[in-house]
Parts: sequence; structure tokens; C-alpha cells
Amino acid sequence: MIAEVIIDVSASELDRVFDYEGGSAREGDRVSVEFGRKKTEGFVIGLKEKSEYPNLKPILEVLEGGIKPPLLSLMHHMVKRYNLRYVDVLRLFIPSELRSGKVNELTETSVSLNTALTYEEAVSSVRRGATARLAVLDYLKDGAVEKKSVLNLKFGAQAVNALAAQGLLIEKTDKVSRVPYKAAAGELAKELTTAQKFVADEITAALRKDGGKFLLHGVTGSGKTEVYMSVISQAVSLGKTAIFLVPEISLTPQVMGLMRAKFGDNVAILHSGLSQGERLDEWLRLHRGEAKIAVGARSAVFAPLENLGAIVVDEEHDSSYISESNPRYDTKEVAELRAKNDGAALVLGSATPDIDAYLDASRGGCRLLELKQRITGEALPEMEIIDMVSEVRNGNRGIFSLRMREEMEAVKSRGEQAMIFINRRGYASFVMCRECGYVAKCSDCDVSLTYHKEDDRLKCHYCGKRFENLHRCPVCGNARLREGRVGTETVAEEIKKLFPDARVLRMDNDTTAGKDAHYKILSRFGAGEADFLVGTQMIAKGHDFGNVTLVGILDADFSLYLSDYRSAERVFQLVTQVAGRAGRADKKGCVLLQTFAPKHYVFRYAKDYDYGGFFKKECNSREVSKFPPFSKIVRVLVSSLDEAEATETVKNIYKEIKAYSEGRSGFIYLQAMKSPVKRIQQRFRFQVLMRLENESAEEICARVFEITDKYASSKTPCFVEINPQSLV
Ligand code: ADP
Ligand code: ZN
Repeated sequence: MIAEVIIDVSASELDRVFDYEGGSAREGDRVSVEFGRKKTEGFVIGLKEKSEYPNLKPILEVLEGGIKPPLLSLMHHMVKRYNLRYVDVLRLFIPSELRSGKVNELTETSVSLNTALTYEEAVSSVRRGATARLAVLDYLKDGAVEKKSVLNLKFGAQAVNALAAQGLLIEKTDKVSRVPYKAAAGELAKELTTAQKFVADEITAALRKDGGKFLLHGVTGSGKTEVYMSVISQAVSLGKTAIFLVPEISLTPQVMGLMRAKFGDNVAILHSGLSQGERLDEWLRLHRGEAKIAVGARSAVFAPLENLGAIVVDEEHDSSYISESNPRYDTKEVAELRAKNDGAALVLGSATPDIDAYLDASRGGCRLLELKQRITGEALPEMEIIDMVSEVRNGNRGIFSLRMREEMEAVKSRGEQAMIFINRRGYASFVMCRECGYVAKCSDCDVSLTYHKEDDRLKCHYCGKRFENLHRCPVCGNARLREGRVGTETVAEEIKKLFPDARVLRMDNDTTAGKDAHYKILSRFGAGEADFLVGTQMIAKGHDFGNVTLVGILDADFSLYLSDYRSAERVFQLVTQVAGRAGRADKKGCVLLQTFAPKHYVFRYAKDYDYGGFFKKECNSREVSKFPPFSKIVRVLVSSLDEAEATETVKNIYKEIKAYSEGRSGFIYLQAMKSPVKRIQQRFRFQVLMRLENESAEEICARVFEITDKYASSKTPCFVEINPQSLV
């Protein structure tokens, strides 16, 4: 057979299929081949009878770590569906640690006495005064086996090596896996309640047959996690495998502890926070079938598992499930495809489902399952809407309303805890000259800089670049500068001013840069080491802290007026999720929400936790205005260091799409323009924006892909995004 091989080198010219003499290679195999003059690695993505080329080179060797057949078909599909290159998609399926060959498998040497000798014989061949050596022999006396590293530590490597050299010890070297979060402890699973059992049984029934898609809508604290666990454990006991996806941010020690406690080494964790070695080992354990359950953020949907029984997508509404950088894909779509191909059950779970997903369920596209009560039987925490307009009118210009301050005081004096949410990090979201109106901006991006007091720097939240703080306006020299809206740093500082003895933790992008940093913050808060946790949406995700009785939401309407059709949905989700952190155990919780738009329908529905009402209202308005899910938004994003070239390219693409659109139905809107953020990391950004009728979207997209590819180059890359999560 002839093998079609993708060469694993990320240069755009090379995204082609090359023919080789296949030998015994099978589809999906990772192989070593000669390419040009060099030996390199590739993947067999297809087999065929004949090649149009003569004198093919042979495949040199089949290596470990190929792509399993069901995954190979998924890969082909993604290339087509999202217009991606094989070399880019490959990154998702095979960890770079394996492909680079740079990370070695870990080995461990264990040592025991040479059984050809008795202990006494061994001792007699060692010099009397050699106490370290004698101690080693004594340690291993009764047939003990110990890690060499441990012996080295206890008795010194010199003694151990000398004994080995004398032939008194036997060394044995084995491969070992680095298993992360071994120490993570979690509670064992609970007996399911009737409601949980009903839901789990429905899913398990499908799992026994040929799968199916479910939307699990369960209020915060309704015990969705236990349902997922039960489904996964059913899958495993049926001899199948499972994937459990969570948003990156909620991959907390709690979740991992739970999984480890319940499934032990049968779980492999795929997570960007792991060391390279850990990542490789976890992947290999799945690949070899040693672990049957993959837990991880979105990329775990590509876990190398066969015979899949279930895929669970927790917090399915979370925008992190959409990959917005190359390779771009929608995790839920991929999960659905994979589940369908493998006959697995797909479970999407959320307290605030995505409007698309809920609409799909209401139209019968998937089965809707509900958990309407909290496990504790307690009501959801009462939410109070605080009108900040009247607060300001009454002379309070502070960050906190009077009511918020009272409640914070009360919580603190009761020894309970509060979470304070603000959707912005830093100290001031912009710095502006009071005289001439100059605003400090990033030199590489068209966005204003945020002041961070902790390191007295201005930072760009788009590219991360840092700048000296300003003490005078660089334009007019005036020293009177105004600072814009508050962020997490300001809030934390303000709390310390109000309650000098308060212990405050802050969680945002700035405090969570280090490895495991955000687990550490959460664990400390969970252990009661702070009274207040101030944070961005990072604190909104599924944590379960029994002692939290107040959730404060500051400036809730911040993102309501963005020009994104989803902004109302986002605010509703965020408020509901954050509110859900209060009163999860037996203590009653309360939620205070500060807004300048107290009458907005989002808050009206959020206050009553009325997802159904919100869904209806939102759906109506999107149907009328023809926004997704009643249409598809497609954007071609063009970026370049060279502004003229970017303009030229976007014009060309627009012209061709425009010509194509003429005389055909399916286009609701088509326009070329600058992107809302005109420059990021020195690159100028332009876009062609379209809204398409759902029915024609696929056909039109295929044409848009072709047109885009024609004009894309490495200097001016062009990407097509379908229903992008953010339109910056
Ligand atoms: P959700 O993900 O729906 O917000 P969780 O799964 O975090 O809710 O569950 C909320 C709390 O209820 C957790 O502390 C969990 O341990 C507990 N819990 C879940 N199921 C049960 C059960 N069947 N019996 C007792 N406690 C449970
Ligand atoms: Zn920047």
C-alpha cells in the first residue's frame, strides 16, 4: 500500500500530503521517514493503492503514539469544518512533548540485595569501618526493595554505588509515570438523591445503547458533579472510557481531588498547568489504555481514548470552550461529533445553559434534564439589587453601597466569609489627562492602559506589555491626571481601609500567573485563611465554600452595553454563577448586586433565578433581529504589520465575497471594516463581517474559506471565524 503522510513541521509550504511506500504502516501511525535529506517524523493519514509518483521512499519505522482510528476521522473532519491545516490540528491530537522527543520518559531504579549471596556473605565482603555501606546492607536485609534515590538520600550515593560495583546489590530500572495531583484528597461519592438518580439513570440508559445528547440544566449547588461522576463510573464499569471537560479555571484541587478519590489512577489529567513530563505521561497512560478517564480543559476532548462511553461538558456555557486562536474550533461541536461517531452519551451541564443549547433542547435536538433544587433543599440565596444611581445621589461616591458595607461588616463579625466580584483587574482601567484629555495607550495595541498599583506600572491587557507610570501628561505636561474605573486591586485596598484587620485575598490574572497559583488562593480561602476573596470571573466558577454567606457583585452592568449581541446573556450567566457561590451549605447566604441600571431585564430575571423567563425574552429579541442562534455570524479577520497590505487584502476578500453574494439568498449582512480593536501587538486588524441564514451558512462558508485562503499569506494571515465569542 501507499501511505499518505503529513510531515510534522510547522511551515506553511509543508501542509501537504506526501506519498511513501507504506510497508506495514496503518492509518494513524506515527512514522519516521526521510524527507529531503533529513530523517523526520510524520503521520499516516491515509492509505491508497496507487501513487502518481514513481520511486517512492519507504517508511523507515513505525513509532509509538499514533492517532487512533476514531480520532483520525475526527481530525479529517476538523480540517474540513474549520478550514484548518493538518499540521496545526496535529498539535491538538498529539502532545508536542511527544512529537518533539525532548521530554524523556521517566525511569526509576530500585535496589535490592543480590540474592546469590546471603546477607552474612555480603557483610563479610565489606570493610569493617564502612558504616554507610553496612547500613545499606542492613536496610535491605530481609529482601527489601527500595528506590535508589531514597537510599542515596539516606546513606549517600557513594556507598550505594560502591556496593553495586562490588556486585552486592541488584539494580532494576523501570519506566514510571509522573502522576499529578496524587496527593489531592477528596471526599468519596455520596449516595445520589432521587432527583440525581433519575437524571443519571436516563443518561446511563443511553450510554448502554448507542449514546445520545443531553442538556443537564441544574441550579447552582444542585449536585451536577455527582451526576457526572456516576455517569462516568457507569461507563467505566461497562468497560468503556469517558472524557470530563471543565473550563480551565475550574480545574481546581476540589475537582481533581474528587476524581482521584473516586477513580484513582484510572483518571488522567490533561491540563496546561502540568509540567511537560507530567503531561506526556498522562497522555501516554490514556494512549496505552492504562487510564480510562480523561479530565481536562477543552483540549481534553482530543484525549486518545477508544470505546468512548460518555463525554461530559461541565459549565457548557463557558466561552473558553471556543478556541479563538489557531487552530480555531468549538469544543462542544467537536464533542458532539466525537460522541456521535463513537456512539457515546454527550452530557452538557450548566446552571445557565447557552441560549443555543437550550433552544436546541426545546426543539428536540437533545434531551433536557433538570435539577431544580439545591442538594441542601435550601432556597437559592436571596438577591438584592442595589441602585447605585440613588446611592450617588445621596452622596456616596465610594465603591461600596451603604448596604454592602453593612453586610460585609456583619459577615466579618460572624466569622463568615464573603466573595466580592468585579469584572476588572488592576487599579484603574485608564489614566487620562484632566487638561487635554490625553489617554495613556499601549504602543502596540489600540487600547488604553490599566494602572496596577502593586507594581506601579501601566499594563496593556491585550498584549501584556508594561509601561512606566505617568506623573505628568506627556502631551501638555499637566500633572492633574484622572484615573478611570476601579478594578480588583482598588477593591481589595478599599476593604482593607474599611476593615483594617480584615484578611483579603485577591484572585485575577495578575495574582494567578504562577504554577497552580489559583488553586493555592482558593485552597487558602477554603481553609478560612481570609475573610474576603476579591476577584474577577475566576471566582464565579463552581467552587463550593460552605462558609461563604455573602456574595457582592460590583458594577454588574459593566459589560451590558458592549456591542456584542450576547452581552445580556453573559451578564445573566455571570450574575447567576457568582450568586450561586453564596449559602451553599447549611448557612443562609445573601447576594448584593450593585448596578446603575436596576430596571434592566437581565437583573429582573437574574434576581428570581428565572432562566426560563430570560431565555424566552432573549430568544424573542434575537429572532426578531436575526442574531444567532437564528443566524450565523461569520468574520474574516485579516491582520498585518503592514497597514496598507492589510487594507488591500481585506478589500480583495470583501470584493469577492460581495460578488459571490450578488443574486443569491442567504446573506443578511455583509460589510468590510476596521476591527473594533484596530491594532494588537503591532498588527493592524481589519475584518469582513457577515450574518448568514442558518440554512445556507455551510455552503457560503465553504466559498468564504476558498476566497480567504486565496489571499492569506504568512505576512498577512486571514482567518475565518464562525460565531466568534468575542469580536475585538
Ligand atoms: P453543582 O455543580 O450543581 O453546582 P455540586 O455538584 O457542586 O453542585 O454539589 C453541591 C454540593 O452538594 C457539594 O458540596 C456536593 O458535595 C454536595 N452533594 C452533591 N450530591 C450530594 C448527595 N447526593 N448527597 C449529599 N451531598 C451531595
Ligand atoms: Zn498592547
